[in-house]
Amino acid sequence: MKLIDGEEVRARLTYALCIPLVRNAMIALSRGETRQLLRAILPLGGGHMFGIMPGALGARGVFGAKLVSVFPDNFAKGRPSHQGVIVLFEGEGGAPVCIVDAGEVTAIRTAAASAVATHALARPEAARLAILGYGEQAAAHARAISTVRRLDTIAVWGRSFERAQAFAARLEAELELPVRASVGAETIVGEADIVCTVTNASEPILLGRWARPGTHVNLVGSSFAGPVEADEELVVRSRFIADHREGVLAQGAEFLRAKAAGLVDDDHVAGEIGQVLEGTLPGRQSSAQVTVYKSLGHVVQDLAAAMALYDGREGR
Ligand code: NDP
Repeated sequence: MKLIDGEEVRARLTYALCIPLVRNAMIALSRGETRQLLRAILPLGGGHMFGIMPGALGARGVFGAKLVSVFPDNFAKGRPSHQGVIVLFEGEGGAPVCIVDAGEVTAIRTAAASAVATHALARPEAARLAILGYGEQAAAHARAISTVRRLDTIAVWGRSFERAQAFAARLEAELELPVRASVGAETIVGEADIVCTVTNASEPILLGRWARPGTHVNLVGSSFAGPVEADEELVVRSRFIADHREGVLAQGAEFLRAKAAGLVDDDHVAGEIGQVLEGTLPGRQSSAQVTVYKSLGHVVQDLAAAMALYDGREGR
């Protein structure tokens, strides 16, 4: 059985490789060509969780699962909060053939999915990116989104201004783009064309009234029913696109909170990003519309990335 560790994933799973893989996986998911169970989360106590995500790709009958621990307090200790493995099985005889480091794949494929959504939904001239959060996903999102839009600036907010500054300095050197830290989320959201929320916040850090007309928002940090990163107003005023409709109706916390308040019903989820990508659902309908991509993350993204790595495909 082949083992692909985190270092190898980092070296080979470039955005040039991963973005098209995730794009195709999301189209296949919307077409019903892939199968997956809703993510199961086993609480471990102390805010720790164990996620179990089984699925099958249409391609070559490949199937498998991601097993991932989520220990949010690891961030303060300088350790990754998401760790685990993706196990890939071949479809002919049902044998397990490959184990891939899930922490690295999760960071890269999630940001790649947001980049795909941003490419489809943000205004073509969008050039200012605001990131709320400065953890692993924040860095991955800066890298991925800078490949789908010509960014002028990136602004970063988080609970600690010092950490935001350190993150900004690191990213600025890496991406060769102006990256600045801000003490106020409202300010940077109000100036942004694209906003990504990538935190563990459980109550809104993003208010809908802050977003300018025409803003595109990727809501990424909350991946189960419970914690919310944005308020009901953002949900209500946006064209709301899901990564997977069934998942968002069951586990999309921001949508569920607005629905529980009686402000929206299930029809407010306009559809899935795979439908937008395929051209069967309009994405952005005007330059003033606020669009939201709700990301929960799906095992088909992990399996598509694992299969490409197993097959020896290389990115540029
Ligand atoms: P990290 O642990 O690397 O970073 C967490 C970030 O959240 C840090 O910036 C931390 O900074 C911040 N944070 C924690 N609590 C709060 C709070 N109450 N308010 C504001 N900021 C807060 O995690 P990742 O970057 O790997 O993941 C970020 C989020 O994305 C997680 O919630 C994770 O579960 C989710 N995720 C979603 C995926 C998807 O597919 N949709 C896939 C993978 C992850 P500080 O503590 O200093 O404030």
